[in-house]
This record gives sequence, structure tokens and C-alpha cells, in this order.
Amino acid sequence: MEKTITELRVERLASGLKDGEFLLVTDLKNVRYLSGYTGTSGIVLLSSAKAYFLTDFRYVEQAKIQCPHLELVVHKPIVWDSVADLLGEAEVLYVEESNLTLASYNQLKSRIKAEIKEAKGPVEKLRMVKSPEEIELISIAARITDEAFMEICGMIKPGVTEMEIARELEFSMKRKGASHTSFDFIVASGPRGALPHGVASDRVIQEGEFVTMDIGAVYQGYHSDMTRTVAVGEVSAELKKIYDIVYKAQMASLEAVAVGKTGAEIDKVARDIIQEHGYGDYFGHSLGHGVGLDIHEGPRVSAASDTVLEENMIITIEPGIYLPDVGGVRIEDLVVVEKTGARRLSLSSKDLIVLS
Ligand code: ZN
Ligand code: ZN
Repeated sequence: MEKTITELRVERLASGLKDGEFLLVTDLKNVRYLSGYTGTSGIVLLSSAKAYFLTDFRYVEQAKIQCPHLELVVHKPIVWDSVADLLGEAEVLYVEESNLTLASYNQLKSRIKAEIKEAKGPVEKLRMVKSPEEIELISIAARITDEAFMEICGMIKPGVTEMEIARELEFSMKRKGASHTSFDFIVASGPRGALPHGVASDRVIQEGEFVTMDIGAVYQGYHSDMTRTVAVGEVSAELKKIYDIVYKAQMASLEAVAVGKTGAEIDKVARDIIQEHGYGDYFGHSLGHGVGLDIHEGPRVSAASDTVLEENMIITIEPGIYLPDVGGVRIEDLVVVEKTGARRLSLSSKDLIVLS
């Protein structure tokens, strides 16, 4: 029988472990990535020879169906007792240092002989490069987002609140098959547009303002992420100007995306353009990030990122300018890195949409 994708992922990780070494995977997104399991209680424990899935009795039937490639262990009341049994005389246990709590660490440490070491994100590294199936799911999430955005444009007008827009977007995405929203939507109008993370509020939208919407859907566990800024009626020359600069920076950095370049190189393209126009101080966040089972994952696309882009990574490109007390603009596309460059998954128009 042909091996499943989860089986292959487990094999790849296991092949990096030496005799006497185990890897403990506790981050639920990583657990899902390796097991296919979608429940809320589960741990994967791997060695070069063994692959266990530990859960409690509530999830046994689900685990049997979702992860037949792993050896199912119904754990003891304290899960670390079972981990200790399985480890036996093992010498090293790698743990996910950014996920395992200090309390869990202490409980583990008191029960096992193995030395506990930081795993340094081996599963996250695998997750950066997407399989065709993952790309398909993220594309569907992006399409749902595009369609919801198109619908909402018909509703945005003076007198409507940011919250009403956010709520309608959520309904719309769920009607189209999304299980969740990717995050609490950012709907930032007028001066609130200067807040890069202005979650929708009760503010009433006025004539002559920009509305920035940062939105996304989750489809079968996979996220999408897109931002558009639209004008409500005629906006000031300054707002139009910053829109054009962000647009230019966004297009240029999209164009720069290529296999073999680093996140920092792509970030620099957008940052240089915004700086040249005198707004460098108003673009205070990184250019983008990876997207997948998490809304923010590797690779980072920032000035500090030396991660080299590979084929089938999925990243966002999202420059912005935020002027305190005036307003802001961000334009964000979700793209797949391909041999020929970036292929956009966000297909909504980026020409300034003027609603009235
Ligand atoms: Zn976003
Ligand atoms: Zn984003």
C-alpha cells in the first residue's frame, strides 16, 4: 500500500533521530501535521524505530481512524507517566521548547532518566514547504476570502460600523464552507487605520475614509490571509498618495519573490520603496510570514530572516503605511513560491476601490 503523507512526514523526522533519542511533539498543530488527528488531546512520541500516539480514552476511536500509522497508547492519568514508560532507558528526549510549559517540563524531568533537550522546531521546518494537498486547501480558503470580500464591498458605506462589517464577513465565509475565521478580523476605518492591528470596533464609518480589512478563512484546518484597503467616497490627496506607495511596494516585492532568495531580501524591496518616499518610519512591521495550519508560521519574511525561499512555501506579502491620527493602508496577498516566482492565491483587485 502506498504510504500516506502523514506516514512520510513521520519517517522523515524519525530518520533524523539517533539510537537512544526520542522526540516529543506536543504542539497540537504539529501533532495534527504528523498524525492527521484533529482532536484536542494528543501527543506524538517518536524514535528512529517507534512512533506512538498518546491520547486519553475519550479520543481512542477518533485516533484509530485518523492515525492508523502510529501506535496508539491510551495514557495514564498523568500523561508523563506513560511517556516515562515508553522512554525506558532512552538517553535524550527532544521537546518543543516553545510549547512545553514549565510545569510539564518539571513533571517530565522528575520521571525520566533521559536528558531533556530543545528540539528547535523540526516539525515547523517541514511545515514550511507545502504539499500539493495543502496548497489546494489553502487555495480554497483564499477563494472563500476573495468571495467574502467581494460581497462585503456592497455593504460598506457611511453609517455602517466596523463590527457589522466583520460580522458579515464571518457569516459570508461560513456560508461558503469555512469552519472558522483565521483570526479576529481587523476592520480599521479612518484614523483607526493607523493601528496595524485594529480589531473591528463599534466605530461608525464616515465619508472620505479608508477602511482596511485584514481577513481570512480556515478550511479543513488551513488558513488564508488577505488585506485590502478601500475608500469610502472621495479621500484626501495624502491618503491616495500613501495608497499608491503601498501598492507600488507590494507589487515590487511580489515581483521579487523567487526560489533561492531570503526573506530579508524580499522585505528590503518593499521597505526601500516606502523609505524612498519618506514613509519608512511608518512601516513598522515585517513584510510577511508563512501561512498554513497556523496563521503565522515559517518562513518569516522580515529584515531579520535568513530563511531561503523554497518551492511550495506559502507566504504573505503585506506592506503598509500607518499615519497616526490620519489613517493607514495595508495591502496583503497570499502567494505560493514557485519556480517562476510568486503565484497569487489572493485574487481580489488591488486597484483602489472607491465605494459610495
Ligand atoms: Zn493579514
Ligand atoms: Zn498576514
